[in-house]
Amino acid sequence: MHPRDLSDHVAYEAGRGIEEVARELECDPADLVKLASNENPHGPSPAAVVAIRDTALDVSSYPKAAHTDLVAAIAERWGVTDEQVWLANGGDGAIDYLHRATLEPGDGVLVPTPGFAYYGMSARYHHGEVGEYALSRADDFAQTAETVLESYDGERVVWVTSPHNPTGSTMALAEIERLAAETDEETLVVVDEAYGEFADHDSAVDLIEGRNGYDARDDVAVLRTFSKAYGLAGVRLGYAVVPGEWSEAYARVNTPFAASELACRAGLAALEDDEHVERTVETARKSRTAMYETIDAPVWDSEGNFVLVDVGDATAVAETMQERGVIVRDCSSFGLPECIRITCGTEDETDRAIETLNEVLATGAEDADGETEVTDV
Ligand SMILES: *Cc1c(COP(=O)(O)O)cnc(C)c1O
Repeated sequence: MHPRDLSDHVAYEAGRGIEEVARELECDPADLVKLASNENPHGPSPAAVVAIRDTALDVSSYPKAAHTDLVAAIAERWGVTDEQVWLANGGDGAIDYLHRATLEPGDGVLVPTPGFAYYGMSARYHHGEVGEYALSRADDFAQTAETVLESYDGERVVWVTSPHNPTGSTMALAEIERLAAETDEETLVVVDEAYGEFADHDSAVDLIEGRNGYDARDDVAVLRTFSKAYGLAGVRLGYAVVPGEWSEAYARVNTPFAASELACRAGLAALEDDEHVERTVETARKSRTAMYETIDAPVWDSEGNFVLVDVGDATAVAETMQERGVIVRDCSSFGLPECIRITCGTEDETDRAIETLNEVLATGAEDADGETEVTDV
């Protein structure tokens, strides 16, 4: 007896955890700076912490009212109906729900490369076929309708990440509208706005609702998460905003109670705490600017809470930085073996990351056998 053939399924490689690295380096986790997973350097909203504490005694019950209340609060925030909000176990859970709601076995899903690995993983779990469209380094990973349409072949779902992970580029709403208009009627364009709070852009919810001069569309959905700007990565809470026509499908694809009581109560509190989100966004903007201005290597413009840096040999540079206590993301697994991604930290964390990276770039990273390797920038 064996599981089904999973040879097409690749394991997700998360950013390294601080405990994991501290054990390996035999040092105190407090001496390490982790800027590898785009987490919030200010932690969760203090209001969410109180809500989680206050909810502890209620966790013996299934989440019912908390789920309803949070859906209503999110719907109000976006000016959509409650039925259009598909709450899930993280943004990743919402990716699964959208695939469950759309894919017949063998249907195609088109994803960006470089890009977020879970779109393809989830599509394969749901018996979909994965195709890719390339964001070109020569174009600074620019995103237009054309970049996607060149590779489009009638897929059922097209994923657009805006701001894009790991490059930080965005697709303008007018281009997303063109993409939705020029793909088949039965193609859903999902705009993943996991980093939407950090961008100077309107949300693609405008395309669903027909606001700000756009006509309402029934072939666009938007993905959002509490993991990044809201600082709740550990509670696992995200959602999709879907067209009104789609609302009935939720009850049929939702894993019962996947958004937990703790997650829903934390989310409700965090949603009210505008100050925490504003502070987080402000910190990310300052950190991005500091990194553009002072890293001695090419840094791409980013609308997210991270920047992509061309360091030559990402694995060697990331490993050497880690030995010096700064954990960043080696982007080899994204298909960019010459780049690292650095999450925007607090001012002190950002300064330490810049200093460490510049030292490594100046003196050369050590390769696996401990020999100094000159990085080719
Ligand atoms: C972080 C992230 C998500 C969602 O993450 P969750 O923690 O599952 O909410 C979705 N898309 C992209 C591009 C991300 O970087």
